[in-house]
Amino acid sequence: MTYIPESLRDQVEKRAQSRCEYCHLHENHAYFVHEIDHIYAEKHGGETREDNLCLACSDCNRRKGSNLCSLDPQTGKVVTLFHPRLDKWDEHFHLEDTGMITPLSSTGRVTERVLGFNRLELVIDRARLIALGSYKDQDS
Ligand SMILES: [Zn+2]
Repeated sequence: MTYIPESLRDQVEKRAQSRCEYCHLHENHAYFVHEIDHIYAEKHGGETREDNLCLACSDCNRRKGSNLCSLDPQTGKVVTLFHPRLDKWDEHFHLEDTGMITPLSSTGRVTERVLGFNRLELVIDRARLIALGSYKDQDS
């Protein structure tokens, strides 16, 4: 694991407003501290620079690992995962009041599957936070 200077960590955390940039879980509601993710993993040539880093909850970060793409379950084509610096979340996902994160695109579908956004325990936790007004675009 590469050393990431504290100032760069702070910058990434502040930019993300302490939310996972994949599932949008706020760090205050996570069991573990959010982590700094190399969007393009170092083994693929991704650098430790602000534009290749994002804040990720430990769950999303662990599942994403060094993955860059996957097979779209609808088309069978290779599609890149959601890129927090290049893609807009709302164009690829929709947060349902039920706690489900519905994919809206091929990128959304592969990211939802690889990162496992809609595993039952996560959906239940997310629905509770939504009901409390503490999820995405809500006060934490
Ligand atoms: Zn997450």
